[in-house]
Amino acid sequence: MPDIIQLLPDAIANQIAAGEVVQRPASAVKELIENAIDAGATSIKLLIKESGKTLIQVIDNGQGMSETDARMSLERHATSKIRTADDLFRLRTMGFRGEALASIAAVSQMEIKTRLPQEDLGTLLLVEGSEVKKQEPTACEKGTSISVKNLFYNIPARRNFLKSNGVEMSHITEEFQRLALAHPNIAFALIQNDELLFDLPSSKLSQRIVNLFGKNYQSQLAPVQEETSLLKITGYIGRPELAKKKRGEQFIFVNNRFIRNNYLGYAITSAYEGLLQEGSFPFYALFIDIDPKHVDVNVHPTKTEIKFDDERAVYGVVWSAVKQALGAHNLAPAIDFADDVNLIGKLSSQPLSREQYYDEQFSNSLQRSNLQNWEKIFEQEAPNSRLFDKSEQKTTVRFESSLNKQESTIADETEKGLFQYQNKYIIRATRNGIMFIDQQSAHERILFEKYLTQLKGVPGNSQQSLFPQTLTLSAPDFALAMEMEREIVALGFRFEVFGKNTLLISGMPAEISGSEKELFEGLIEQFKKNQSELHLPIRENLAQALAKRASMKSGQKLSPEEMEALVERLFACPNPNFSPEGRPTFFIFDSSKIESYFTR
Ligand code: ADP
Ligand code: MG
Repeated sequence: MPDIIQLLPDAIANQIAAGEVVQRPASAVKELIENAIDAGATSIKLLIKESGKTLIQVIDNGQGMSETDARMSLERHATSKIRTADDLFRLRTMGFRGEALASIAAVSQMEIKTRLPQEDLGTLLLVEGSEVKKQEPTACEKGTSISVKNLFYNIPARRNFLKSNGVEMSHITEEFQRLALAHPNIAFALIQNDELLFDLPSSKLSQRIVNLFGKNYQSQLAPVQEETSLLKITGYIGRPELAKKKRGEQFIFVNNRFIRNNYLGYAITSAYEGLLQEGSFPFYALFIDIDPKHVDVNVHPTKTEIKFDDERAVYGVVWSAVKQALGAHNLAPAIDFADDVNLIGKLSSQPLSREQYYDEQFSNSLQRSNLQNWEKIFEQEAPNSRLFDKSEQKTTVRFESSLNKQESTIADETEKGLFQYQNKYIIRATRNGIMFIDQQSAHERILFEKYLTQLKGVPGNSQQSLFPQTLTLSAPDFALAMEMEREIVALGFRFEVFGKNTLLISGMPAEISGSEKELFEGLIEQFKKNQSELHLPIRENLAQALAKRASMKSGQKLSPEEMEALVERLFACPNPNFSPEGRPTFFIFDSSKIESYFTR
């Protein structure tokens, strides 16, 4: 029997690939605009005729292509953006598979006009169903113009499958909006059947939103800004009044790519809880920056679903960031304490500097507190603590082990309405509901801020050991410890070299109980773990590592004073909402929710 397996002719292979890349006119729009962005364009025009069925044209002023490159760009797997498989993991450009132009050219009549800035003449290429019909020099603007005519002209089944002009055009507009939002610094225009639909000058994101969605958005946006060691989130959310009956205007970008993730969408809408009418959808355009290693991106070019390795942590940060933005702009009822000033609202209503804010919180908390109590639980700290620099009183909280306190099986209550639940959570009434604070996460946040301050220039106090301990480390750990000697001392440790790979530890950070040896070893271990998992800068890493090791743990019983102090200090942190690892430190169970259980 003769051999029957043959390689497919390129044109057919391209057509098959096209089925994946180009599903409808909007997918071609996305690929062409992304190429223009990758080419460094500062101005991009999109021309559409008959919802893309007869014409999709993208004109850019980017770097253009040489004669040879213009020809090469049509080959499958031809790309200027990656050279090795390794590059796949360092992608900063939008496209990378070198498939788009080849695929689109396989199912349309394509005209490419392109010119390098330094050349006088450009190149014109006419392609039909992958076949190059003409290539010649031409006079044209610098940059590239690609026209895609009669999409699917050679696959009637697919062409018939296209939806009405209205539907296809709305898909195009959607892609256009996503790309324009993600690149506000690039000027965009969209012209449909010779009518200018969008004319977007280069601008700030807020202005871009207004230009895209309407003037009435101007006063209706609240900025979102949050940064943890895991991710950074920026962007805008709309006031509840701006919410639409349709889901359309909701955008999440991860590392500047539009993505879909229902779980995150849910995090955002649930932060609006109680503010939205049933069946209405708030506006948001949020940008998450996260190390790509925490993201499982499906590299299929048309897929927008992605997953995070720690969805819950991302959820927590997004939820709090939105909640805070809502509170900060008085869009939501402020989540302040029943009897206290609005700590969270203050925190977010910017103009205060970090120091001013801290001062204010500190004096507030002194006023609020029963001073006798404070004296009992606060110990005098040496005068160099930055945290309380500007106040008269230099104090710090001490969390003693409560083992020798009387254990009680029921929750403890203070006059302020604080309870401890399961020795894990502190529960406190607020004006708008009941706040649950995770004691361990809260304490980690407090310590993290404190250690970071110490590492940034104001060394912390040390408590001297009665009996200095020796600690022998592995050679690499010893080297690491020596390398970070200055930082470790800033945290409050005192140590000296005491023989080969051995240290004599004579002091450790104040207000921590336990063995200095174990703490030191634990710090090094945690540091190394963070290093391999989180890639934090040294100071953040050390601060986080020590905070994690030194924090009190879930399961520890707290006295009312300790609870009180923990809450005070948490909300004096510039960023009280999460643990340094991004876990939420608290949430509020809405009073409206409580009421809903009892509605008659
Ligand atoms: P990819 O974007 O994945 O590299 P494409 O098929 O979309 O693959 O494009 C192939 C190549 O053609 C790109 O790598 C780029 O070098 C070139 N190219 C495409 N569009 C443009 C453009 N508008 N300006 C300059 N070069 C472009
Ligand atoms: Mg591309």
